[in-house]
Amino acid sequence: METAVRRTAIVTGAGRGIGAAVARRLAREGLAVAVFDLDAEAASSVAEEIRSAGGTAGAFGVDVADEGAVQAAVDDVAQSLGAPVVLVNNAGITRDNMLHKMSVDDWDSVMSVHLRGAFLLSRAVQPHLKAERWGRIVNLSSMSAFGNVGQANYAAAKAGIWGFTKTLALEIGRHGATCNAIAPGFIQTEMTRATAERLGVTFEELIESSAKETPVGRVGVPEDIAHAVAFFVSEQSGFVSGQVLTVAGGPKG
Ligand code: NAP
Repeated sequence: METAVRRTAIVTGAGRGIGAAVARRLAREGLAVAVFDLDAEAASSVAEEIRSAGGTAGAFGVDVADEGAVQAAVDDVAQSLGAPVVLVNNAGITRDNMLHKMSVDDWDSVMSVHLRGAFLLSRAVQPHLKAERWGRIVNLSSMSAFGNVGQANYAAAKAGIWGFTKTLALEIGRHGATCNAIAPGFIQTEMTRATAERLGVTFEELIESSAKETPVGRVGVPEDIAHAVAFFVSEQSGFVSGQVLTVAGGPKG
């Protein structure tokens, strides 16, 4: 991903899991990376790791659903690391429950982090894409968007990401910017570890059963998603926009 200029990227939820892998990967590709996470300490340790490896990174403790905090952090990134023209909306939570047991808070929290968060961050970086006449937004959807028992809230939010992605692609194209999404299948992270707990099986058992159902015979790791993000972010991917790429070891999750 050779860049003539150093681009600055914001990766949300980058204190661990997929977001941390994306932050490390973009830093290796030469971008300055703003590591956003609710957990400021986790963000600091990922940023420190990137700097130790020779990259450029800053840590920001931010709740992506907090309008004021998002705007302040994006302004801070522009001052300290450069105009954020790459945004990876990765922060996510699950509040799984069968519909009859799902609370309004379970519903609202999931919508807030995934949809309100992606909206607030995208809106805050848009002026920078416009000024630089270049940009890349990558949103994390999920194969759960096709429906998953116990995840009415999460599936609805991840399906919402599709419409959001395609609409942004239409709106920001004139800034020389693209917007795409990735729909991962089963990726080995703390999020899927929590799923195993909910299902009452060990994480190893869930990994084994998911691998058996996956055409390539294994579950995903965060680096599989980071690789797909790097493709969308690359300078040469400027004609790919409004797409949702399944990264699930097969045609379905
Ligand atoms: P993860 O390990 O649970 O990491 C999510 C990160 O997001 C955590 O560091 C978390 O911080 C942060 N976060 C949560 N709420 C936040 C908020 N309001 N503001 C800022 N940061 C926040 O999850 P993951 O598996 O890496 O998932 C990353 C993304 O991929 C999510 O959007 C997820 O829905 C999507 N995805 C994952 C899978 C999978 O199989 N793992 C499959 C499909 C899609 P705290 O630790 O402080 O809460």
